[in-house]
Amino acid sequence: MGTEVSNLVEKMFDAFAMTSGTSYVFMCDIKKNYSKWSLKAVEYFGLPGEYMEDAGGIWEERMHPEDRVIHHKQIEEAFSGKRDSVDAEYRVMDKEGNYVVCTCKGKVIRDDAGEPAYFAGTIWNHGVIDNIDPATNLYNQYEFFHALELLKGKKQPIAIMVLGIKRFSEINEIYGYTLGNKVLRELAKKFMSILKDESWVYRLDGTRYGIICNVRDDKSLREMYQSLQNMARHEITLQGEKVTVDLCGGAVVTENYGLDVHDIYAKAKYGLDASKNEKHGELVIVHDDGNISVNNKENIEILNEIRNCVANQCEGFYLCYQPFVSSISEKLLGMEVLLRWKKEPYGNVPPDRFIPWLERDACFFDLGNWILEEAFKEGKKILTRYPDFVININLSYAQLERSEFRKCLVELLEKTAFPARNLCLELTERCRLLDLTFLRNEIIFLKSYGIKVVLDDFGTGFSSLNLLRELPIDGIKIDRGFVSDITTNCKNQSIVKAVTTCAKELDLNVCVEGIEDEDMKNFMGNFNSSSYQGYYYSRPVGMDEFKQLSFY
Ligand code: C2E
Ligand code: CA
Ligand code: CA
Repeated sequence: MGTEVSNLVEKMFDAFAMTSGTSYVFMCDIKKNYSKWSLKAVEYFGLPGEYMEDAGGIWEERMHPEDRVIHHKQIEEAFSGKRDSVDAEYRVMDKEGNYVVCTCKGKVIRDDAGEPAYFAGTIWNHGVIDNIDPATNLYNQYEFFHALELLKGKKQPIAIMVLGIKRFSEINEIYGYTLGNKVLRELAKKFMSILKDESWVYRLDGTRYGIICNVRDDKSLREMYQSLQNMARHEITLQGEKVTVDLCGGAVVTENYGLDVHDIYAKAKYGLDASKNEKHGELVIVHDDGNISVNNKENIEILNEIRNCVANQCEGFYLCYQPFVSSISEKLLGMEVLLRWKKEPYGNVPPDRFIPWLERDACFFDLGNWILEEAFKEGKKILTRYPDFVININLSYAQLERSEFRKCLVELLEKTAFPARNLCLELTERCRLLDLTFLRNEIIFLKSYGIKVVLDDFGTGFSSLNLLRELPIDGIKIDRGFVSDITTNCKNQSIVKAVTTCAKELDLNVCVEGIEDEDMKNFMGNFNSSSYQGYYYSRPVGMDEFKQLSFY
């Protein structure tokens, strides 16, 4: 361009290029495909130079493969005169290999004959922002929900597929966490290469992937899934060794635009669970007529009823409280809040029966907020008597994963004037399926408010000693499964000894759950723990009864 563009234009270009560190200007002579770009962009992205031939091609190489198609199409149309402006958002790799999100807006300038002559515009660099999953470089679940909102807004039929990995914990155990992440990245890359045009892949919570599909009929969805499944089984390698990855998948096809995006996702997860638990990994598709293939009809009925109740100001729900005491003085330290639901003709339905299901439902978030608010109000009354009293509230993963969670929690604390230092959140088993970095950041946020965080049911499922080191938690609760036969079961004795010793080394509190009698309590005296909870002290009871407890 140098000689082509007049001095004045060059000077104007330089003036604009200087104005901001995170927006760049570019100008391209279309016929020669010769461009000038801001020096700042050249430096940031490690481009060959300010003046470039085929800058579009060079730029595209740095672009996330998934975003290239749309960008390419827009530029081609602009250069051939089919469109006058370009407006695109995409991910581009910077010098260090991190993807950043950029928005590009450009205009075609035509010559006297009306032919496209120049293409000029601005690129905004939004920086490394948290809508990209660092492990796979895919957009994360926030973007997934955002994209679903957009589709809903445009009233476009929606087809999403959610993919899970069977026994991923085994892959992590065999190869370790870092290589496990490599598998996730490999899969992401291969998914993208298979799913070319206009199907979008996202990394969701845990080891799930979400796809917004460009096909919507059952046959095409099954074909798409089949090719992804075959690839995962046969084409993933780690350090030259083949790793067999077994997928399971659920899909939702819907034209019901009244559905919340989280409900759409919840439906896909039902499909995913059915695929995993009943269909040996076959794709389960859920349609608007609501045929969800799960085996227990009665359960679904109760679940629907419970869901209605949540929508109806949490009708039928109430809270029980179970004390925990100091392991040394046996004085009252705090209480755990436990949810109950009662409604005829179902009677009292224990939380174990509905929480694991309900957690996957979008409505759980509202219920979770109701639990928090109720517990804060009730708990506050105790604080006048015991200023250091702690209330432990179980937190579901359906709450943590929502971007609004932080704001809601802080608002509820303020609304009820409950002091954050008297709150302890128990992270249940499934919370740990969230991405470790995400989980860490959430815990750091909670702690910055003075809220305590403990891992519940430690020793079961996915909990590993590694988590104790990686997460800035205050303590753990040892699952009662290890404690129920502690006086006689040598294996459990060894496990409890190892876990309590390790926790002590790391300066973590240990609460032992399920203390049912004096023998158990006395035996636990052999280990380092800070507090005891269990029927021996009290069953979970209502607040009035709680205040009648002998040690209150
Ligand atoms: P959890 O968090 O491990 O809660 C402790 C469970 O052990 C409670 O069952 C409690 O009643 C029971 N338990 C306490 N002491 C003893 C004992 O000495 N012996 C025996 N056998 N059991 C004892 P519950 O209330 O049925 O709750 C079951 C699970 O439901 C909870 O396990 C928790 O995972 C979930 N849950 C309960 N309330 C909530 C809630 O508000 N939010 C969430 N996300 N989950 C909840
Ligand atoms: Ca708990
Ligand atoms: Ca527990």
